[in-house]
Amino acid sequence: MSAPASLLSAQSEIPAAKQSSENDPFEAMANRFDRAAALLDIEPGIARMLRAPEKQITVSIPVQMDNGEVEVFTGHRVIHNTARGPGKGGIRFDMHVDITEVTALAAWMTWKCAVVNVPFGGAKGGVVCDPLTMSPNELERLTRRYTASLIQVFGPNSDVPAPDVNTGEKVMAWVMDTYSMHVGYTEPAVVTGKPIVLGGSYGRREATGRGVMIATREAVASQGKSLKGSTAAVQGFGNVGSVAATLLAHEGCRVVAIGDRTGALYNKAGIDVDAAAAWVARHGTIEKFDGGDRITNGELLELEVDVLIPAALENVITTKNAHAIKAKIIVEAANGPTTAAADPILNDKGILVVPDILANAGGVTVSYFEWVQNRGGYFWPEDVVNDRLRESMTKGFAEVKELSERHAVDLRTAAYMLAIGRVATVQRLRGVYA
Ligand code: NAD
Repeated sequence: MSAPASLLSAQSEIPAAKQSSENDPFEAMANRFDRAAALLDIEPGIARMLRAPEKQITVSIPVQMDNGEVEVFTGHRVIHNTARGPGKGGIRFDMHVDITEVTALAAWMTWKCAVVNVPFGGAKGGVVCDPLTMSPNELERLTRRYTASLIQVFGPNSDVPAPDVNTGEKVMAWVMDTYSMHVGYTEPAVVTGKPIVLGGSYGRREATGRGVMIATREAVASQGKSLKGSTAAVQGFGNVGSVAATLLAHEGCRVVAIGDRTGALYNKAGIDVDAAAAWVARHGTIEKFDGGDRITNGELLELEVDVLIPAALENVITTKNAHAIKAKIIVEAANGPTTAAADPILNDKGILVVPDILANAGGVTVSYFEWVQNRGGYFWPEDVVNDRLRESMTKGFAEVKELSERHAVDLRTAAYMLAIGRVATVQRLRGVYA
């Protein structure tokens, strides 16, 4: 179904930095939004409010490099929607970051929080940089200046960052310390994904990957099968991909391929994922890990497996390769790995796609648990965190599946319908402040 003209005209309200194309992540988000909003028959005014980001901020970040030179980096923070609670979303350090991508990622956070009913809105941040070529001191200065530039934006009640690509506990500790120095007291609840000794939550580091494993288990079960004896290929072996692959292997799934930015590995008998994770912890990449035959990341995506898990970056499944995908199930661990134009191709092939806003919601779910623990000054044991995560992911999957059956739509459209319906209800009740 095509979107009503009134929704499409709202597009001009989005300051897009990129030309419209299949790979434009904001277009990918907006395309799915329009389809779900039309099916829900959302009033055009509410749809316009939900589609447009509340705030887009771009900052210049001067950093004194170790060689004494001053470099100026560009950083962004986008708050997409705060109707249901404070903005929530990771900070990404990557050369490909731009305002369009950050805006799309912020909107996905709004829908993701709503799918699993976490009382946060959506936000995202990014800095255009190559962290792999920067020293720890340069990264610390970059993080602190970025945080200081956004000091009025960040806050436990307004906007709570978290890790994303190329950022982790260490970066979150610097954000928390910089914010605390500015406000004059220690405020752990301003970020999630912190080291445990600084108020981080047990289970947060593994939460996104654990949630991906749970979503995969539910998807496989929905086809009358079990993880035991199923095969999987996982692209991306960082925070999310390595944990998902490891937990899947522990559940009896044969992980036949893994990949990272250096290429991929294939082993029909199953990769020793624990050994691969230990190798990456020591050496940074799987490049010289001797656990299988070298293949390309493109070949990994087209393997004959039960489950394909893209867990790296966006736009890896497009109209160019969707026809060649042989997996029965795709579980989108990364944000936006499939372009909107590739959706119908996968649907026509009968591939069950568990969409990103559901599949990788485990991270934000445990981020919410971390924020709750910080605000209560009380800490939950790991088994409590993991049990509540499992409850949240299985409930989210069941609700999306039920909606998809009731409306005879794919899981992605159903997830957007669930999320947009929840945010629209709140927005309607809150009204338009004038
Ligand atoms: P990460 O930086 O820890 O790992 C990224 C992985 O992808 C690395 O193994 C890297 O080598 C690989 N990679 C990079 N470019 C690649 C390429 N061109 N081809 C193949 N592999 C490539 O990042 P992460 O935290 O694991 O995030 C991965 C994805 O999951 C991102 O889309 C992110 O937005 C999403 N995500 C992360 C979280 C989280 O809690 N970290 C939560 C939700 C969603």
